[in-house]
Amino acid sequence: MIRIDGSSGEGGGQVLRTALALALVTGTPFQMVKIRAGRSKPGLLRQHLTAVKAAAAVSGAELEGSHLNSQELTFRPGRVTPGDYHFAVGTAGSATLVLQTVLPALLDASAPSTLKLEGGTHNPAAPPFDFLVKSYLPLVRRMGPGVEATLERPGFFPAGGGRFRVNVRPAPLQPLHLMERGAVVRRQATAMISQVPFNVAKRELEMVGRVLDWGEEERRVEEFKHSSGPGNVLSLEVESEHVTEVFTGFGERGVPAESIAVEVAKEVQVYLHAGVPVGPHLCDQLLLLLALAREGSFRTVPFEGHAHTQLKTFAHFLDVRFDVKEVSSLVTEVRVGRVST
Ligand code: AMP
Repeated sequence: MIRIDGSSGEGGGQVLRTALALALVTGTPFQMVKIRAGRSKPGLLRQHLTAVKAAAAVSGAELEGSHLNSQELTFRPGRVTPGDYHFAVGTAGSATLVLQTVLPALLDASAPSTLKLEGGTHNPAAPPFDFLVKSYLPLVRRMGPGVEATLERPGFFPAGGGRFRVNVRPAPLQPLHLMERGAVVRRQATAMISQVPFNVAKRELEMVGRVLDWGEEERRVEEFKHSSGPGNVLSLEVESEHVTEVFTGFGERGVPAESIAVEVAKEVQVYLHAGVPVGPHLCDQLLLLLALAREGSFRTVPFEGHAHTQLKTFAHFLDVRFDVKEVSSLVTEVRVGRVST
């Protein structure tokens, strides 16, 4: 049985979710110890447990240690069964991360699936729904499968209560090569608010305009009326010829709206200055898709913790070669499997 140290590398929930995703796709059981051992609340939180249960539901897996705060888990997957599934995190924990845990297996399944996911849809330290639909899923579709996600209600931290639906039409994942970003064709700043003063959104957008020099027509406010609790998210979308990237800031009590805006605007500046197609978050998520396709390449910003950890986790399940080359202090190039030069 594969034994994985959950505290190795970045040591967060990603080690667990990637192991679950690959266990499903490869049909390989694993045991994980020291799950999130270095975190302030170690072990399986509600969001991680929902991912474990979701992975078990789609594959009829046998589980040991699947309870809240558990730092050890044994996961023996059965056969992946496509179908209609409903997964609810039950807190504001990220529902998009639950989706990403089961999606690779459902992309590879024998028939379509539909999913209803409930929980957080716009969480710090997780892929926000807008990133999912504008950046991540279009790349999945470019690789072959059909996947569409529809937001029914946003779920902001700490209230949660969000809901979205996903349709999956499986197809084998084809290689993806994403070496060039191409020219920027559209820019859009969206300040989302729910039960938060309109002025907060206005101040964020003004600061984006000032730092990035984005015009009035490139900035808009989106007000949600039906969320379970207050929320403020600033989403900066950069659509280029070959890829769309989304950078996200999260409003916080006690942090001025201007600071949130400056921080996320700086992320956009770093990305634009590097001239690469793939930003830091998309990078670690794309690595998994390319590992499953067993072939592909892309250019990104310098590797950080999550990306390195992904490669370590893949090595437990897959025999895929990754060449990672620092092209410059700003640019990293990734080549997977048999890539012609
Ligand atoms: P972990 O911190 O181990 O739970 O993993 C978090 C996952 O969420 C990683 O795949 C990150 O790339 C992803 N993530 C975190 N923040 C963002 C963001 N702002 N946009 C897109 N993905 C994100």
